[in-house]
Amino acid sequence: MAHIPTIGVLALQGAFEVHARRLAELGAIATLVRRPDELAALDALVIPGGESTTFLKHLEREGFYDTLNTFVHTKPVFGTCAGCILLAKEVTNPPQASFGVLDIAVERNAYGRQNDSAIITADTTLPGGPLEMVFIRAPRITRVGPAIETLATRDGSPTLIRQGRLLAATFHPELTDDTRVHQLFLDIVRERNQ
Ligand code: GLN
Repeated sequence: MAHIPTIGVLALQGAFEVHARRLAELGAIATLVRRPDELAALDALVIPGGESTTFLKHLEREGFYDTLNTFVHTKPVFGTCAGCILLAKEVTNPPQASFGVLDIAVERNAYGRQNDSAIITADTTLPGGPLEMVFIRAPRITRVGPAIETLATRDGSPTLIRQGRLLAATFHPELTDDTRVHQLFLDIVRERNQ
């Protein structure tokens, strides 16, 4: 029988419940992760949106940083919005610590106050037609390295990217009914477990 992947959702802050529900609907075992020792049992992890600065504070306080750093350098991880910021090699506006595993530069809160939330439908390389993307105080990816595959864009900037076992979105795929982005992550996790 095929192995059913166990995917954790980092549950320190942000929209973790919705991610977990979506992953469970798609056939994964979804667990909420609140302590560093819980990472050991996981095949993969979702780092949800929220506030990346607050994430960093929680991670330091809970003694999470080193364990999570090892995890993101070895296992499949999907970072959305603040999660994408935490994975990036370079963070600006303002500069901030990050795991540096995704070869991208990202500018925080890049769309300004008036445009800080938006729903945009754009083309994607994912099969099934255009993708609806919900942006909330979103970052903008300003540079991508050669190992990055761009799967969707907003005004020419990448919004959904893949680097091997890593997936990142500057929008919130858990807030639309379209399951393709989470499905892609599950496919990445299953590929790795074969
Ligand atoms: N503005 C947040 C940050 O810079 C990200 C917003 C989000 O995750 N929706 O961390």
